Amino acid sequence: MKTRTKNNTLAEIAEFLKTLDRVAVTTHVGADGDAIGASVALVRLVRRLGAEAVFCHAEAVPDYLAWLLPGEALRELAPDHDLLVADTSRADRTGVPVPETGARLNVDHHEDNPLYAEYNLVSPRAAATAEIIADLYAELDVPLDRPAAEALYVGIRTDTGGFNFRNISPRAHELVADLLRAGVVPAEVNERINRRGSIEQLRIVGVSLANAVRYGDALISTVENADYERTGATELDSKESIDQLRTVAGVDVVAHLREVPQGTKGSLRSETVDVGEIARRFGGGGHRLAAGYTTRRRPNEAREELLGMLEGVLDLGGGR
Ligand code: AMP
Ligand code: MN
Ligand code: MN
Repeated sequence: MKTRTKNNTLAEIAEFLKTLDRVAVTTHVGADGDAIGASVALVRLVRRLGAEAVFCHAEAVPDYLAWLLPGEALRELAPDHDLLVADTSRADRTGVPVPETGARLNVDHHEDNPLYAEYNLVSPRAAATAEIIADLYAELDVPLDRPAAEALYVGIRTDTGGFNFRNISPRAHELVADLLRAGVVPAEVNERINRRGSIEQLRIVGVSLANAVRYGDALISTVENADYERTGATELDSKESIDQLRTVAGVDVVAHLREVPQGTKGSLRSETVDVGEIARRFGGGGHRLAAGYTTRRRPNEAREELLGMLEGVLDLGGGR
């Protein structure tokens, strides 16, 4: 895998997109609203420029986002496609194997992105990768139709926790106004993405909240295989609890540790502490205030491992 260090300008990427004929767009594993929203809008943009474009991803797209996709996602990357990667901080986090020659474009907003593609458009100030894709529409004078606007809106809305996180800017709100003018109806999008829960999901969220333990300025919740079996829910269902875990007053770092076949996936959130740095110490990554990692340990040991790492960073209240 080539690692280059150059970040390109919007104008350079706009010119580059015009040269393409056959494109596959992919994103990170465990795709979220920005991953799918930005990818779908990029597929549609490339098509508007006259090229063929498909979305390619090795995993199933989550049900709550499937309505954004123009038909079925390709499962395997054809060798004659140029690969464009959206919202993915490292090449090894893509949903398809990146070819020897590397990805041609990396468009992202993670500050730890090492600029791994031939062309890179990485802007950590953007609230979502969708915001950068919107800039490309503007740069190329391609008007936003309703499906593209909905895809971009989902990206911004989900990556900002519904316009609540510190990454939201006046500019992002101005863009959202344009998306509404292009036909987005927020209540309809809300219905499609937020009212798709199941009773199983509700139960595992309850388990996850009940399992939360406070250690001074940290709050950690663990969820195990037995909890999935008991509730009939999945690992990803349990992550839905994370924003509620963040409502506890006086907590600086929230961690959600859920069992997965490889061990435990950790999701870290904070208002003040650089949790991206903590996630990187475990081989993960992400943003300053929202990051994640996977460890081989099971949840109970993963909690001890994390507490060990937080010891020098936070006041853990001596209650361990
Ligand atoms: P999550 O907690 O899974 O919602 O992830 C929060 C942020 O951290 C997202 O921006 C992810 O892209 C990033 N992230 C999560 N897990 C990893 C990982 N294993 N390696 C690198 N980045 C990650
Ligand atoms: Mn994402
Ligand atoms: Mn994102």
